Amino acid sequence: MTTGPHSQNAVHIIGAGLAGSEAAWQVASAGIPVVLHEMRPHRMTEAHLTQGLAELVCSNSFRSDDAANNAVGLLHAEMRKLGSLIMRCADANQVPAGGALAVDRNGFSDAVTKALETHPLITIDRAEVEGLPPDDWGNVIVATGPLTSAALADAIRGITDEKALAFFDAIAPIVHFDSIDMSKAWFQSRYDKVGPGGTGADYINCPMDKEQYDNFVDMLITGEKTDFKEWELNTPYFDGCLPIEVMAERGKETLRHGPMKPVGLTNPHDPTVKAYAIVQLRQDNKLGTLYNIVGFQTKLKHGAQTRVFRTIPGLENAEFARLGGLHRNTFLNSPKLLDQQLRLRAQPRLRFAGQMTGCEGYVESASVGLMAGLYAAADAKGEQLSPPPITTALGSLLGHITGGHIETIDSGPRSFQPMNINFGLFPPLVTPPTKKADGTRLRGNEKTVAKKQALSARALADLDVWIAASLPAPAAAA
Ligand SMILES: Cc1cc2nc3c(=O)[nH]c(=O)nc-3n(C[C@H](O)[C@H](O)[C@H](O)COP(=O)(O)OP(=O)(O)OC[C@H]3O[C@@H](n4cnc5c(N)ncnc54)[C@H](O)[C@@H]3O)c2cc1C
Repeated sequence: MTTGPHSQNAVHIIGAGLAGSEAAWQVASAGIPVVLHEMRPHRMTEAHLTQGLAELVCSNSFRSDDAANNAVGLLHAEMRKLGSLIMRCADANQVPAGGALAVDRNGFSDAVTKALETHPLITIDRAEVEGLPPDDWGNVIVATGPLTSAALADAIRGITDEKALAFFDAIAPIVHFDSIDMSKAWFQSRYDKVGPGGTGADYINCPMDKEQYDNFVDMLITGEKTDFKEWELNTPYFDGCLPIEVMAERGKETLRHGPMKPVGLTNPHDPTVKAYAIVQLRQDNKLGTLYNIVGFQTKLKHGAQTRVFRTIPGLENAEFARLGGLHRNTFLNSPKLLDQQLRLRAQPRLRFAGQMTGCEGYVESASVGLMAGLYAAADAKGEQLSPPPITTALGSLLGHITGGHIETIDSGPRSFQPMNINFGLFPPLVTPPTKKADGTRLRGNEKTVAKKQALSARALADLDVWIAASLPAPAAAA
């Protein structure tokens, strides 16, 4: 049998980001040759800056490392049990960040690159895959991420029969609370609704009269916008996520009937005067030091944003923790298009991994890469691999991606949205804990903490059983 990377049973992995790098490691660790295709540095994405594999495009945090109390910390622990390269390199390049696992981004990427470049079963091909993989690639993992190159995205769109594959994710600006003038703004929820977990006074409201509103809409329409690149011109927005200036262009009154509607709110500074339009801000962090402007996702240039948003009464001296922006996000309607093993139903030789499958975040992307790698390796060996238990973080995330989403919750054009791992994806405990170790009753928050800890303990125990039953020793090595 040929064992070189170009042998018949080689797995072709497209994209050496978080997911593709982890998948390559898992496949090669199972003794199967891999050809890893990465387009950088010949073609860069809008966010990547280097040619390193597994480059972190934004923050350097893998979030909480607390396996007992936090779902992403649990996912770290499960990946470590499965010999994850991404976790090994993250652990080796950790920088101080409290309970979070943050890494030296260059050290981390260098370590992943070196491990893959020096693996005898891995060949790295620095080239863009510009369309559907050739027919003789029988076992493929597509892990090209949210910024998948246009040629490949178009080809995938062609075989999935989906109206769109790429969307814009828009981000609203965030303001420091202590820079908001509360002598003009006030706290109130619309119709004083308490809502789940609210107080009835959860939003900050900034009132506008007709003249201020008309000027504001004019400034939005004429403000300088970030240009769309050619490939972006035909990329749609999520319907519920239109940039504010795009809404303003649809008609002078559109915003007054949308995010700036003045109903259900009374200005305590001037109770007899009805505001013509109202801008709302919502708490953005637990401390209550940051508020985001609701519905104000935008592609105005940064200078224009500060100028225009400081005309809002109450925000004249606003300091922005983050300005709004837009980035492309390419992901599949996975519950419809992928089977349980992440294979495209229409062409099962193509398996998907990473953010393209509709998970969100570095760790989640790497974890789906890990599972895709295990499945591809099993296929190459002609073996069956059962899915990880649904009680584990890996199993619950996979379950959500491939079948856990209920389309009827939100009947928009695409209701499946990228999701971080969270305990809400896990099946509930059969008998939730009610007592502490000393026999006394759990109270208030103690119950929530105990429940998370019980979910985590169940996950780790069930994963151990699955590993012992399903995986040969090399992949299961810690
Ligand atoms: C701008 C931006 C900021 C983000 N910030 C964060 C953050 O701070 N924290 C967080 O947890 N998550 C963040 N994410 C979300 C997500 O976690 C990351 O995008 C993550 O890198 C996704 O992993 P991936 O492996 O799916 O894709 P990537 O890591 O992007 O890897 C995909 C790889 O495929 C390559 N590629 C693309 N097309 C082709 C092709 N046709 N042929 C060959 N190679 C190709 C790319 O060059 C890239 O190396 C961010 C996403 C974006 C777009």
